[in-house]
Amino acid sequence: MAQSDHDAELAYMADPSKCPFCGNDDLGWEAIDAAAPLRAICSVYCEQCGAKWMEIYKMTAVTIEQEGRVSQQIIKAMRDRK
Ligand SMILES: [Zn+2]
Repeated sequence: MAQSDHDAELAYMADPSKCPFCGNDDLGWEAIDAAAPLRAICSVYCEQCGAKWMEIYKMTAVTIEQEGRVSQQIIKAMRDRK
């Protein structure tokens, strides 16, 4: 398993279905919080070892809503604001 926090982050990015510290797949997710207009953060915890970490999301696509229906067109907005 992970030897450092950085190793754990890399392991989790490679396989986000498992705890990067103990390998358990029984994870819990808390509500996603909007951190900024283009960011969202989700708190995750391992039910087995109690480790906690955050998943950080950024917007990757937009769907335009027209007359109450979501259009079929998807506008890719691969924004990269590190
Ligand atoms: Zn764990």
